[in-house]
Amino acid sequence: MKSNLRLVNPRGESERRWVHHALERLTQEAARSADTHLLKLNFPGFHGIDFYFKDEASHPTGSLKHRLARSLFLYALCNGRLSDGQTVVDASSGCTAISEAWFARMLGLPFIAVMPVGTAPGKLHDVQALGGKCDLVEDAAQVHARAAGHAASGACHLDQFGLAERATDWRGNNNIAESIIGQLASEAAPEPAWIVCGAGTGGTSATIGRYLRYRRLATRLCVAEPTGSGFVHGWRTCNPDAVASQPTLIEGIGRPRVEPGFLFDVVDRVIEVPDSASIAAAWLLEDLLGRRYGGSSGTNLVACLQLAAAMRARGEHGSIVSLLCDRGERYAQTLFDASWLAARGIDTTAWDATLRATLQDGQWPRSGDGAT
Ligand SMILES: *Cc1c(COP(=O)(O)O)cnc(C)c1O
Repeated sequence: MKSNLRLVNPRGESERRWVHHALERLTQEAARSADTHLLKLNFPGFHGIDFYFKDEASHPTGSLKHRLARSLFLYALCNGRLSDGQTVVDASSGCTAISEAWFARMLGLPFIAVMPVGTAPGKLHDVQALGGKCDLVEDAAQVHARAAGHAASGACHLDQFGLAERATDWRGNNNIAESIIGQLASEAAPEPAWIVCGAGTGGTSATIGRYLRYRRLATRLCVAEPTGSGFVHGWRTCNPDAVASQPTLIEGIGRPRVEPGFLFDVVDRVIEVPDSASIAAAWLLEDLLGRRYGGSSGTNLVACLQLAAAMRARGEHGSIVSLLCDRGERYAQTLFDASWLAARGIDTTAWDATLRATLQDGQWPRSGDGAT
C-alpha cells in the first residue's frame, strides 16, 4: 500500500506541537457546537406517557457518530497514536465514516473508510465529498480485517468498534446520557422509565447504561435491535461469540457479530424489531416530525411504543426517551424508495397500519402483527 507509513517520530518536539495544535482544533470545534434538541411527542393512545427523541441528526455531520468521531480522534491523539500527515482508517457502516472524514479534513489528514458494498450511495457520496476514500468489501464481516490491513501498513486505525466504549467519557463531559438527563430536569417525569437505543459499536448503550448507574437513577436501558442480530443472540445467552442469524437492511445497528464494545451487563432489556417494522416507523417519523430520519430511528420508535403499551397496560405514567440517530436523506435511494423496498420483498403496509393504530389506542401486541 501507499505512502501512509509513519515517517515522523511521534515522540519528537515538532510532533508534540502538532498534537497540541490538533487538540486545540478539536476543542474549538466542541466549543462552537450546540447541544442537540430533545423533541417531545405525545400520542392520543398514551395519556400520561411522554416521549422524547434526541435529535442526533442535527449534528454538523448528520448523526450521533459526530460525538464518537470527536472522541476517537481525541483518544488517538492523547494516546500518541496519531501524527501529522498520517492516514486515518476505520471500518464503518457509513455514519461513522462521514463524521470521521469531516474531522480528518479539519485536521488535514487523509482518510480511508472501509465499508460493505451495499452501503447507501448517499453515504459514500458524503464521505467522498469530504475528501475521504471508500474501500468497499463484499462481506460486512470483512470490514475489520481490511481496516487492520491498512493499519499494518502505517495508517492510524480509529477503531470505532474496539474503542467506542472507552473513548467516551462515561461519567459526564456532556456525553449523550448526561445531556439527556440534564435536558429532562424541568419535565413532568425527569427520571425516564426507559431509555431506548440501538447497538452498532455498543458505545451509546454502554455510555447510557453506565451513566444511569453512576447517577443512581431507576431508569432502565432497552436496546432495540433488528431481529436476529449478533447482539440479540449474544445478550440472551451471555455469549460474546454469538453471530447474527439473519442480515438486516437497517444500517448502523444489527451487527453480524458481538462487537467488543457491547456491554451486556448494563442492558436491562432487548427488543427485536423486524426490518419492515423499522422501515414503516422511519416513514411514520417523517409524518410525526416533518423530517426524515434513518432506519435505526424507526427501530427505536417501535421499541418505545412496545414499552409504552406495557406501561399503559400496568397503569403507569412517566417518560420514555430515545434517539433520532441519523438523517433520512441518506436513504433516499434505499429505505425511502418504494421500488428498492419492493425489490427486497419489503412491504410496510401492515406495519404502518399497526403502528398508527398503536399511537391511537396504546395497544400492543395486536393480532396479526407478528409482535411477540
Ligand atoms: C452507530 C449507529 C447507531 C448505534 O450507535 P452505537 O453507539 O454505535 O451503538 C444507531 N444508528 C445509526 C444510524 C448509527 O450510525
